[in-house]
Amino acid sequence: MSRPPQPEAGPAHRLLADRLAAALARPVAQQPDWPDPERAQAVVAALSRAEPLVTPAETARLAERLAAVAHGEAFLLQGGDCAEAFAENTEAHQRANLGLLTDMAAVLARRAGRPVVTVARMAGQYAKPRSRPLDARGLPVYRGDLVNSIEPTPAARTPDPSRMLRARADAADAMAVVRDFRTGTRARPDDDGELYVSHEALVLDYERTSLRADLGGPEPRLASGLAHFLWVGERTRDPDGAHIALAELLSNPIGLKLGPRTTPEQALAYVRRLDPHGEPGRLTLISRMGHTRVRAVLPAIVEKVTASGHQVIWSCDPMHGNTYTSAGGHKTRALQHIADEVSGFFEVHRRLGTHPGGLHVELTGDDVTECLGGPRGLTEADLPARYRTACDPRLNAEQSMELATTVAELAAAGATDREVRLR
Ligand code: PEP
Ligand code: MN
Repeated sequence: MSRPPQPEAGPAHRLLADRLAAALARPVAQQPDWPDPERAQAVVAALSRAEPLVTPAETARLAERLAAVAHGEAFLLQGGDCAEAFAENTEAHQRANLGLLTDMAAVLARRAGRPVVTVARMAGQYAKPRSRPLDARGLPVYRGDLVNSIEPTPAARTPDPSRMLRARADAADAMAVVRDFRTGTRARPDDDGELYVSHEALVLDYERTSLRADLGGPEPRLASGLAHFLWVGERTRDPDGAHIALAELLSNPIGLKLGPRTTPEQALAYVRRLDPHGEPGRLTLISRMGHTRVRAVLPAIVEKVTASGHQVIWSCDPMHGNTYTSAGGHKTRALQHIADEVSGFFEVHRRLGTHPGGLHVELTGDDVTECLGGPRGLTEADLPARYRTACDPRLNAEQSMELATTVAELAAAGATDREVRLR
């Protein structure tokens, strides 16, 4: 049955506008301190008039695919740069990242015998949460190209709201590359040929600019036109803060990063708020515990959430809990630790009978030397050669493929266990 057209200022729209204003009025972490707030507001107004980057039909299709992941029938692969950078927004870089993701998806699908839902960290991943406000030089820290420049001068590090316009234009260009790439790969038998985009919903002056009422779900919500999937990061998941309140309002599928200090009770409280209607796959819990802690911390969280009956997606980010600084001063990660966290994640879910449904990774198809190990056995001495990331260290193509093979084997072993149990 089709609904009559909704008047733009109907009660549901007013309710949503009020709820959005209340969400944005909450305490908010990790926001740029724009030196000229009037200019920032003018940019927000301009962005609010821009065309959305994704369509409601695409986002609805992703929600359906994620329901299949939550039911244990498919696997979620999410990955891309830690931070997209304007200078790296070339078609070659984007195609290299998309090509790597689809190659990984093909290995996973073939070996684990399940479809893979592929979600790029792309077309909006321009803002970064930071642990400290100042860098080692005492300058305001780089917060991503959406906010300031990585160049270490006071002027370059001053937040500039015009950067949000550039980010939106570059995101539109990236989205065009994604659509073109998707058309070229639709014939592959091992996936459904669809590619989705995602980023961390961090800078709220950017995120608030493409929200439209979505009255098609279990309650009136706001659909973001900036990405198919948005997630809330480890540093902005204050239950009283604006980011969680905004995520509650979104109709897009959403993710939430969970670090090693998360308690089972906290996890359950997030799940109740972010998935109040029990929609399978609406919420992806992305654990990033570190390889030494995942086996100890994750089980109680999984048990508590599973007992509540909510069908979340359990995804593993084996990157952010395994970062350290090399002797030469490079932020790095060892593939061995990354693979060990994924193994621990699979062990936990295998033991509890839950579906280890997803992998969330920072990677690039470019031939960088940012993480250690892999087929060429990169060591700390190799890092300076091609260390190019604007933020966190990424797996290169061969390291990513090695990880995909490891994950595919873990997933295939799990599938066999289940078949044996069912017989
Ligand atoms: C990230 O995904 O780049 C990130 C900052 O992760 P987290 O919020 O888990 O630290
Ligand atoms: Mn990162």
